[in-house]
Amino acid sequence: MKNTVIVKVFTHFLVSFLLFSTFINMFGTNLYPTLSTSMPKVVIDAGHGGIDRGSFGIATGTAESELNLEYAKTLQEKLGNFEIATILTRADSEGLYGDTSKGFKKRDMAKRKEISEAFDADLLVSLHCNYSTAKSPRGVVIYYNESVPLSKTLALELQKNIATLATVKKVRIDSEKMYMTHSIDLPSVLIECGFLSNTTDEQLLLNVEYRNRLTEKIATSLKNILFTTNPIA
Ligand SMILES: [Zn+2]
Repeated sequence: MKNTVIVKVFTHFLVSFLLFSTFINMFGTNLYPTLSTSMPKVVIDAGHGGIDRGSFGIATGTAESELNLEYAKTLQEKLGNFEIATILTRADSEGLYGDTSKGFKKRDMAKRKEISEAFDADLLVSLHCNYSTAKSPRGVVIYYNESVPLSKTLALELQKNIATLATVKKVRIDSEKMYMTHSIDLPSVLIECGFLSNTTDEQLLLNVEYRNRLTEKIATSLKNILFTTNPIA
């Protein structure tokens, strides 16, 4: 009886050790020592939602809030393939503000912050589509918080990888203050995936192939940062 218990305990430890070793071998040394035995966690925030539909495509009138959600869900799939745990701040077209009374936008943003903090994530990515009063601006813009070193590191990694996509006109990084990058206490970036005010970019944003390729680059960048000991400075 006693021997059986010992064998069971030993087997338990052996299996745990093998699983742990496999994890370390698969991904190398983790950037976060506290995460060495568990999956890294990323919050994916689809911008806008509910009565706040964001901007609209200049040719098709497509609402930014719907596109952001599509991009968020595709990114979630890609990160799942890399064994990265994710949470969406919203998984449908509804906003997070409760009722639509005065101050709904503030409540909506506060809820996103609450969800992110409760998930105890390592990184946050907020996805949006851009809009300019001029019709010519195109490309991807990545906002980061310059007072959080890993936020800039991630922005640079994203810029490097997204710039390899031939269809992307240009990729710019910017430290302008954004709620999702400056009010939440974890490394975060806000990615504007293209301009809905430009017809070429709008076509790209609506294209499933573009969505797949862009989110693949975003997922790869996050993976590189989460699973490397020496991210670019
Ligand atoms: Zn937006």
